[in-house]
Amino acid sequence: MPTYEEARSIVLESVAPLGAERVETGRALGRTLAEKVAAPWPLPFCDNSAMDGYAVRAVDCRGPARLKITGYIPAGGTASVEVTPGCAVKIMTGAPIPPGCDAVIPFEETSFAEDHVVVNGRVMVGQHIRFRGEDVREGDVVLQEGTPLRPAEISMLASLGKAFVPVYRKVRVAVLSTGDELIELGEPPSPGTIINSNSLAVAAAVRETGAVPVLLGIARDDIASHAGKISEGLKADALITTAGVSAGDRDLVREVLAGLGVASRFWRVDVKPGGPTAFGMKDGVPVFSLPGNPVSALITFEAFVRPALLRMMGRKSVVRPLVKATLTGEVRKKPGKVNFLRVGIEVRGGEFFASSAGDQNTGILRTMVLADALAVLPADKTAFAAGETVDVFLLGETLR
Ligand code: AMP
Ligand code: MG
Repeated sequence: MPTYEEARSIVLESVAPLGAERVETGRALGRTLAEKVAAPWPLPFCDNSAMDGYAVRAVDCRGPARLKITGYIPAGGTASVEVTPGCAVKIMTGAPIPPGCDAVIPFEETSFAEDHVVVNGRVMVGQHIRFRGEDVREGDVVLQEGTPLRPAEISMLASLGKAFVPVYRKVRVAVLSTGDELIELGEPPSPGTIINSNSLAVAAAVRETGAVPVLLGIARDDIASHAGKISEGLKADALITTAGVSAGDRDLVREVLAGLGVASRFWRVDVKPGGPTAFGMKDGVPVFSLPGNPVSALITFEAFVRPALLRMMGRKSVVRPLVKATLTGEVRKKPGKVNFLRVGIEVRGGEFFASSAGDQNTGILRTMVLADALAVLPADKTAFAAGETVDVFLLGETLR
């Protein structure tokens, strides 16, 4: 049975980025660049003013000076007026630097008298000028293949005139729940039925990675129903099933997957929760069989599915960053398996403190709701004292 790290490596070695497509830059947030981007022109494109003020010759302002105002260049204007000796040209932020000018004096450092400007401070050559290419030189590779597109990258792409951008395709992920006890949300519950929350939860987790879920509904606990739905799921880029992979006699997922030619890579993992997690491949399509338990399904999604989907969408960094957090109370576990502990996180004095979210039984969904993070407790250790540091990964981008 693979360990947590081994299982994750097996999954990541089995998948590769899907193809690329071109999308509008304005719609590319969260996507991953499929090609590097080089600058077709420098940034800034021309020397321009960094302040609202006066374009001057620094040599005219060695001491207190009175300069005649001979022109005005607004933002969006052209640098048509030359700055001649003893003169200044009024200039707005972003406007091109006119010939003759080698410094800009901000309004607040001047006083104004009729058609003259009075300068008192010392003026340095080049001050308050943004020079052509000082940010990006023409031809510079500014973004590498594999870069996730955040607002900053969108800004860079737009500044370089890139209206369309090559990104990795979104993974289409088929999501299938299995089990005779399941009813869909909206149907009236009765004793013995369970609302199919996994399909919605897993679909939400898929969406959070930037991939696109395709809901296949529920496979009933018979071979034909499983085979029909799973065959449909294998047409997607990836398939996630939940339930039916433990030792129950109605647990048909493994048998049906094998029958459909899905090559099993592992069918259990040495973690808690999430032991009965299976993974296989068919013609490049990864198949994740997650436990039915809603808590285990979400935790194993985090541990194994999310990294794989991110890799398929071209990400280089596919795991959430681990941070160190101090335990506020004692924690015990059995030896042998990595445990994922649902914890609440508090930030005090810039440091993370982790407290158990409560009952860690996999049947308790409430503590999943109360968790900000999962603490990754190493396999061999059994007792963790209050004040000890553990690795945690945050489940969201911000704390609740
Ligand atoms: P199993 O893996 O089939 O033994 O299921 C484990 C537990 O998870 C059982 O209590 C199931 O009723 C529950 N379960 C299975 N599938 C779902 C689902 N789609 N939504 C919510 N709970 C489920
Ligand atoms: Mg079942």
